[in-house]
Order: sequence, then C-alpha cells, then structure tokens
Amino acid sequence: MRVRNKPWAKDEMAEHREYVVLEPTELKGKWQAEFNNDAPIRLEVGTGKGQFIIEMARQHPEANFIGLELQDSVLVMALEKVLEYENIPNLRFVLGNAKELDQYFEQGEINQLYLNFSDPWPKSRHEKRRLTFKTFLDQYKHVLKEDGLLQFKTDNQGLFEYSLTSMSQYGMDFLEISLDLHNSKIEGNVQTEYEEKFSQRGSRINYMLAKFK
Ligand code: SAM
Repeated sequence: MRVRNKPWAKDEMAEHREYVVLEPTELKGKWQAEFNNDAPIRLEVGTGKGQFIIEMARQHPEANFIGLELQDSVLVMALEKVLEYENIPNLRFVLGNAKELDQYFEQGEINQLYLNFSDPWPKSRHEKRRLTFKTFLDQYKHVLKEDGLLQFKTDNQGLFEYSLTSMSQYGMDFLEISLDLHNSKIEGNVQTEYEEKFSQRGSRINYMLAKFK
C-alpha cells in the first residue's frame, strides 16, 4: 500500500499503548496476559488501515485480535480509525514484519491467521516477497496452534493460484475454497478496505480456508 510518509506516526502510536504494541518481542508468550484473559488470539498479517480487524474485534468480543502491519505510516491510519470507536479491549495493533513472527509469538500462541489482499508481487524474481511463499508459511506454521486455521482472501487470480500451489506443496489441507466469495454460501464475511474497493469495481473475491498438517 502506497501512502505518504508520516514522520510523526511512531510518536502518535507511542501515545496509544492501549492499542499499539511497538516492541512485540517483549510480549512473546505473554499475549493473553496483555489482553488480560485466556481467550483465543487471531492475527491479521498486513492489516493495512485496519477496517477488517477492527470490525472482527467488535463482532467477536469472545476472541482477541491483533493486526500486524509493516509500515508505520499505514498503521497510524488504523489507529486513527479505532480511536473513533468506544474502547475495544480485545484489539491490538503491532508494528512489525511477518518474517519475524517467531520473534513476536511463542510456538502455538495464535489460533487463527488472516491474510487479506496481500501484495501480489507478480514478477517471478519477487516470489520470495509473497506472503504465501514457503518461508512465510514456516512462520505461520510455527506460531499457529495445531489445527489452527489460515484464511486468505484476494482479488488477484495470479496470487491466488500461486498460493494454492505453494500451500499445497507445503502439505496444507484446504477446508473451503471459493472463487467468488460474495456469491458463495460462506457466511460471516467481514470486508476489508481493498475488498470493498475491488468488489465495487466488479472483481470477484477469491477465498480459501486452510490448515497445516
Ligand atoms: N489487508 C488490508 C486490506 O485488505 O485492505 C491491506 C492490504 S495491502 C495491499 C497489504 C498490506 O500488507 C500493506 O499495508 C503492507 O504494508 C502490508 N505488508 C506487506 N508485507 C508485510 C509484511 N512482511 N509484514 C507485515 N505487513 C506487511
């Protein structure tokens, strides 16, 4: 996601420790204590401006939600959005990189993981940057509980096909697949910013729910 650089982003986030975790390594193995409960934890990787994870946290007070984002200038927009609501105690934002998940979370600390409209990186020389490349799958497998689920949505056909192959070669099982999520029987979908934008332009949304063996 391209946004204007905001040099003040980190300072603003540091003023809202109730939502933003700037040093996630310090909470490794202690996330339930951070939420002050023993509810399951669901993580969105590449949360962008946060619409999906905020709405999920509001609809599911029985679970804890974390939105991970690489760019501070993007994550601060998610923070500004959440501040428009009453307190949402089961939500945190983390400034960090998906390639370091094992430094932020203990093995099996996450119950469910979401990848929404990840950058497609269509050039083959950029394959390693795709969030469904095997080095990222290693990270997800490590932090997910046994039987933990990975949900993936994208409008991008190339990335979807690549991800099906990459995840299948990794030995993952697919529980649900749809090539047109909005015209499927899958219930409870919460739309992301990108999902709204692309579906309004007529794109079909690809969806899969998978787990590691
Ligand atoms: N999920 C949102 C949505 O569907 O509207 C945002 C999609 S946007 C195309 C992808 C986001 O993933 C960007 O904000 C980008 O900075 C973030 N991202 C890309 N690589 C990442 C990584 N390695 N770790 C964390 N976030 C990453």
